[in-house]
Amino acid sequence: MKNIILLAPQSAGKGTQAALIKEKYNIPHISTGDLLREKRKEKSEIGKIISSFIDNGALVPQDIIDKLLIERLNNKDCKNGFILDGYPRTIEQAKTLDKYLSVNNMNINYVINIDVSKEEIIKRITGRRICEKCATNYNINYESEKSKIENICDKCGGHLIKRSDDYEEAISKRLEIYYKEINLLLEFYQDKNILYKVDGCKLPNEVFKEIDKIINK
Ligand code: AMP
Repeated sequence: MKNIILLAPQSAGKGTQAALIKEKYNIPHISTGDLLREKRKEKSEIGKIISSFIDNGALVPQDIIDKLLIERLNNKDCKNGFILDGYPRTIEQAKTLDKYLSVNNMNINYVINIDVSKEEIIKRITGRRICEKCATNYNINYESEKSKIENICDKCGGHLIKRSDDYEEAISKRLEIYYKEINLLLEFYQDKNILYKVDGCKLPNEVFKEIDKIINK
């Protein structure tokens, strides 16, 4: 069984690594950020609440995120494993997840901490751009990740925009929350002997090789 948590700040490459793991092991990639962005499109009252938290870089209230996550984990496609990206973000969330898993006779097998310095994270987040049509990602702070024409998507010609929460204030808030909680989470999983660290500054395929060695046991 491969129940995996990717633990890292935004922009450390969790999405890229999750896609590579998903492809090789055929298990779903569950990003709580994506689940929330999908839910807020509904324009319901709950959608409005979610938007207000995301746009401020704050954590969405635990009852909302837990409900969404558990609904997703109950899906049949998670029976042979899953990759969690963006959850847990707090020790309370880690405990909620544990409770859910133990009631369902499951557990987490690997927690992968993708290690990237704070300076590098800020450079990555501030340069991040996303195509508003097809959601392809670019980064204006790295030559190899720029679009060929400034602000235009190489794939579909759509406009490149910043995510609504990639503005200075929201970024600082998100990073502050991340660094406040991460040590507790690392300790929590270290105590269970399921924590592994990889160097997130390497090229994506090299990071993946490290991860693959860990989970391919
Ligand atoms: P992400 O795409 O992982 O960067 O998440 C984007 C935003 O969604 C975060 O800044 C939070 O506002 C919200 N979010 C995602 N995951 C969680 C979570 N586990 N708990 C609370 N809020 C979350």
